[in-house]
Amino acid sequence: MEFNEDIEKQFFEKIKNIKDLSELKKIEIEYLGKKGIVQELYKKIKDLPEEKRKEFGEKVNNLRNIIESSIESTKAQLESSLADLKLSSEKIDVTLPGLHFQRGSIHVLTKVIEEVKSIFVSMGFDVFSGPDIEDDYYNFEALNIPEHHPARDMQDTFYLAQKILLRTQTSPMQIRIMKKLKPPIRMIAIGRCYRRDALDSSHSPQFHQVEGLVVDKGISFANLKATLSEFSKKMFGENTRIRFTPSYFPFVEPGSETSISCVICGGKGCPVCKYTGFLEMGGSGMVHPNVLRNVGIDPDEFQGFAFGWGIERIAMVKYGIPDIRYFYQNDLRFLKQF
Ligand SMILES: [Zn+2]
Repeated sequence: MEFNEDIEKQFFEKIKNIKDLSELKKIEIEYLGKKGIVQELYKKIKDLPEEKRKEFGEKVNNLRNIIESSIESTKAQLESSLADLKLSSEKIDVTLPGLHFQRGSIHVLTKVIEEVKSIFVSMGFDVFSGPDIEDDYYNFEALNIPEHHPARDMQDTFYLAQKILLRTQTSPMQIRIMKKLKPPIRMIAIGRCYRRDALDSSHSPQFHQVEGLVVDKGISFANLKATLSEFSKKMFGENTRIRFTPSYFPFVEPGSETSISCVICGGKGCPVCKYTGFLEMGGSGMVHPNVLRNVGIDPDEFQGFAFGWGIERIAMVKYGIPDIRYFYQNDLRFLKQF
C-alpha cells in the first residue's frame, strides 16, 4: 500500500475555509481522533511488508505533525480574531451623545421654607418642629381658645378621636416650647396644618404655617413690627412696607391681621391686591397674658409677641402664583419653573 498524498491536500482544503472554533474541532476529531484518519494510517503499518514500514511510518508521523501544528495555528488565529471582534464591538465611542438624565429640583414650598428659616435664623431665632397630630389642650385650650370658639367646631377641624386632632395651626408649638424652655425665647416652627376647608384657588385642607414666638422682659409691639418688617424686606424686597389691622385671635392681645404692601403695584392698587395696595399674610399680636399663665410664665415679668403666616401665601405672593392647588398637583410644567 502506498501513502496517499491527497490526505494532506484535502486537509488543507478543509481548514482553509474554517469559520469558527467548533468547525475546527470537528476537523481535529476527523483527522487526529482515536478513530481518525491518522490513526487508521498507523493501523495499516502492521499490514505492510517489513521493508516499507519505516518509510510509511515516517510519512504518517510527518503528516500528523503538519496537521497538529496547522490546527494549533488556525486555532490561535481564530481566537485572536474573536478577541478583536469582541474589542471592536465593545469599544466605547466617546463622540456619541450621552444618555440624558432628568434632574429633579427642590419643590417651591421647600425652597420658601428654607428661605424663611434662614432669614429668621439670621435674626437669632431657633427653629423647632412639632407633631401634626395634636392634643386638644395644645391646639386650643392652652391657647386661650374657649370651648365655644368656632375653631373648635367639627366643621373646621379634623378630629381623629375625642380631643385628638390634626393641628389647625402651628400655634400649639408656642405652648410646647414655652413649657420646655425658660425665657428669653426666640423661636419659629414651620409645619403642616389641617382644616376642613373645601379645596379652591385660595384654600386647601392641608397647608403650611410659620409660627414665630418671642418671650422676654420688655417685649413690645414695636419688636413685633420690627421683626416682621425686617423679615418682609428680606423675603419680598427692600421697599416692602408692613401694615397691622386690628383683629381677634384668642391667644394674642392686642391682635392684628398683618399685610405687606403689594409686591405688584407697591401699594398703589392693582387687581392682585384688589386695589387695596396690601396683601394679607397672617395673624400676629402680643401673647395673651392667659397663655403665659397657662405655661407658668408671669405676664407681669415677661411679655411676648407671636405671629403665624402661611407658607403657601408667602410663596404665592413672592412668585406670583395665582392658585394654591398648583403646589399639590405635581405638574412638572409648574414645578420646573422654580
Ligand atoms: Zn397691587
